[in-house]
Amino acid sequence: MFNTKEEFKYEFSKRIIESYGRTVEEAHLTEKFMVLETMVRDYASVNWAMTKMAVQAKQQKQVHYFSMEFLVGRLLVNNMMNLGIYEIAKEGLADYGINIHDLEELESDAGLGNGGLGRLAACFMDSLASLSYPAFGNTIRYDYGFFKQKIENGYQVEVPDQWLRLGNMWEVRKPKHATEVKFWGKVIWDDATGGWKHVDYEAVRAVPYDMPIVGNDTKVTNTLRLWKAEPSENIPTNKDFRQYAQEVNDICQTLYPDDSTHAGRVLRLKQQYFFVCAGLNSIIRAHLRVYPDLTNFHEKNVIQLNDTHPVLVIPELMRVFIDDYNMEWDDAWNIVCKTCAYTNHTILAEALEKWPVDMMRDLLPRVYQIIEEINRRFIGFVKQQTENDNELLQRVMIIKDGQVHMARLAIAGSFSVNGVAQLHSDILKEREMKDFDTLYPNKFNNKTNGVTHRRWLAYCNPQLTSLINESIGDSWMHRPDDLEKLAPYVTDSITQSKFYNVKQQRKQILADYIKEHNGIDVDVNSIFDIQVKRLHAYKRQLLNVMHIIYLYQRMKEDSSFRIYPHTYIFGAKAAPSYYLAKKIIKLINSVADKVNNDPETNKYLKVVFIENYGVTIAEKIIPAADVSEQISTAGKEASGTSNMKFMMNGALTLGTLDGANVEIAELVGDDNVVIFGMKDNEVNDLKASGSYSSWNEYNNNPNIKKVIDSLVDGTWNSSREEFKIIFDELMARNDEYFLLKDFESYRLAQEKINNLYQDRANWSKICLANIAKSGHFSSDRTIEDYVKDIWHLNRVKI
Ligand SMILES: *Cc1c(COP(=O)(O)O)cnc(C)c1O
Repeated sequence: MFNTKEEFKYEFSKRIIESYGRTVEEAHLTEKFMVLETMVRDYASVNWAMTKMAVQAKQQKQVHYFSMEFLVGRLLVNNMMNLGIYEIAKEGLADYGINIHDLEELESDAGLGNGGLGRLAACFMDSLASLSYPAFGNTIRYDYGFFKQKIENGYQVEVPDQWLRLGNMWEVRKPKHATEVKFWGKVIWDDATGGWKHVDYEAVRAVPYDMPIVGNDTKVTNTLRLWKAEPSENIPTNKDFRQYAQEVNDICQTLYPDDSTHAGRVLRLKQQYFFVCAGLNSIIRAHLRVYPDLTNFHEKNVIQLNDTHPVLVIPELMRVFIDDYNMEWDDAWNIVCKTCAYTNHTILAEALEKWPVDMMRDLLPRVYQIIEEINRRFIGFVKQQTENDNELLQRVMIIKDGQVHMARLAIAGSFSVNGVAQLHSDILKEREMKDFDTLYPNKFNNKTNGVTHRRWLAYCNPQLTSLINESIGDSWMHRPDDLEKLAPYVTDSITQSKFYNVKQQRKQILADYIKEHNGIDVDVNSIFDIQVKRLHAYKRQLLNVMHIIYLYQRMKEDSSFRIYPHTYIFGAKAAPSYYLAKKIIKLINSVADKVNNDPETNKYLKVVFIENYGVTIAEKIIPAADVSEQISTAGKEASGTSNMKFMMNGALTLGTLDGANVEIAELVGDDNVVIFGMKDNEVNDLKASGSYSSWNEYNNNPNIKKVIDSLVDGTWNSSREEFKIIFDELMARNDEYFLLKDFESYRLAQEKINNLYQDRANWSKICLANIAKSGHFSSDRTIEDYVKDIWHLNRVKI
């Protein structure tokens, strides 16, 4: 297609003329962008087709990653880089007077996810392809991605994310592979067939849109399949068509903007069944194109369930096996349990997904019937395993008190259950899911998360990449553990000062962005201390703000108390219905307003809230960080992945011993991380003792008292009511996440960083040591772990 700059230019110009009837010079910027994107897709298409043929020819086993969310971000640069055609395109465009960065900026983020869980799915797809493993992603083609966040007068305002406005050049609509999904109706026994029959249902047509997932330096190109709902040919006769069409459109309209509590709505359940049913249908059809029956289904397919959202895979697969392919229950169950594996992402009680029996029975009558039977047999199994331990039984039943417990269904129907960091997996095994670990001794395992070091280091931070490559070459692109070759350089003063310069460059880029978007001047010589992630009480952005308030109050009180200049940077979206989270955003902005405009202190302290945190903005923010704030209450953050991205880019982790922070701290050693706060077991003991009182903390620590008082004395807002809910959360509701308890230890940790940063050589050493150890947190390592222990795949050879 094109291998040289000249060939690229010829092709580009030809396509502009063909598509828009004008020359490159006359074409609009968006036209140039769309042509470039199409060219890259078509370039990838050859490999895409070859991958499909190679997998078919060898009859290879594939993994199907089912996830309600894929937080992909932009693909143009990523795909060009992975294909090795970025430089050719850049130079070719430059010859036409086009700056490739202007085209890059026109791409919308594919924001089909909320945060860490969705981003993990995207990183996994990148690593799977780059490691040449055969993999399919399955999800929903949402019309609107995760909402865009605007900050108005300090408050979050949600704006729809119209990511498809210019179309999505990456996707290919595949109407040939469309299928039907059935909702509502009832189940009757059919004497003629001797089976159950679903009647009076409403059918919806599911049409797949396929996106190529381009691997790095391999021909292997996998598929992310996005399902879109359309009206079926079998329009329901008992319903007005406009109403039916509206209900169909609703299915794929929006991503639920909530990653931790489940929206108890029929629509959400519809979304789940919709993509599960459609996804399974296409896997089964593909299987039967090659094999005479489904008896070897699990030998050729493994389905990874990303959290409980796609767990209907288990009963739906049973339904298809039994109703459509006449399998006996035991044979079907045996195959299902050898096919499915489940990843748990949270232990927050409010996030454990449950569905009311009535809702499920109405919407999915046959599927519910099967869940009932799974539950009935599961009860038998439990009784037999535990010699009728009725208390245990009550704790593990899949259907309990009128609700279907999705995590329990997932564990019963999967051969593997994994947590996403060692601490998290231990907590599942030893505490939260102990009963299940007793019932199924070898099911539970750990797969510590990772992030693709290509997007999150190589592509987003070319300055640091050059520095690394100058020192140790670029083998780490393929073998991220080779970043360890940096170890001898961490104490080298020339490398240290080069690193410092790179960091300054990246801070300048972010400072320019902040100036443009927030109108705030920030000092690149200050410490960039950054906390970017979803806003949630357990992540404790509020602890960070409280400490900022404390610093400000001290500096105002005592003119001899001054800190090394700090810029505290936040980015966070709050779920639209999460009132407390939104107030915390408002508080950050109110504190920023006052602090940034106080001439007495603003040389030392600035606060910035960057709006609309998402993948593309993260790629700018993370390389600029000196300090990575990972301060969740111990035991609450399953893994975290931004902690890994920051580490790769040479930031020091300021964190609790939570999630993957524990593993980061172990790897880099005490000198290269700053840990504070209660440990997981201390949090538990304190909670269990019932002795914690936030009023005691308040009364015994004047610093805390002053900070808390300022929330309700009009310091940050003319209305004393504005932040009352935050005050109440901490004081009236006794500070569920122990912010006050950890405050002093956090303050000391911040002080330590303040001192560490002033020894520039040692600071650079710390950052380089972090980079050197970060290869472990590449999702390439995570994927190899899944392949070895769970998926058992072979690489595709083309
Ligand atoms: C990595 C990432 C996350 C996850 O961040 P945590 O701090 O681990 O919760 C969330 N959102 C985006 C856009 C990300 O890139």
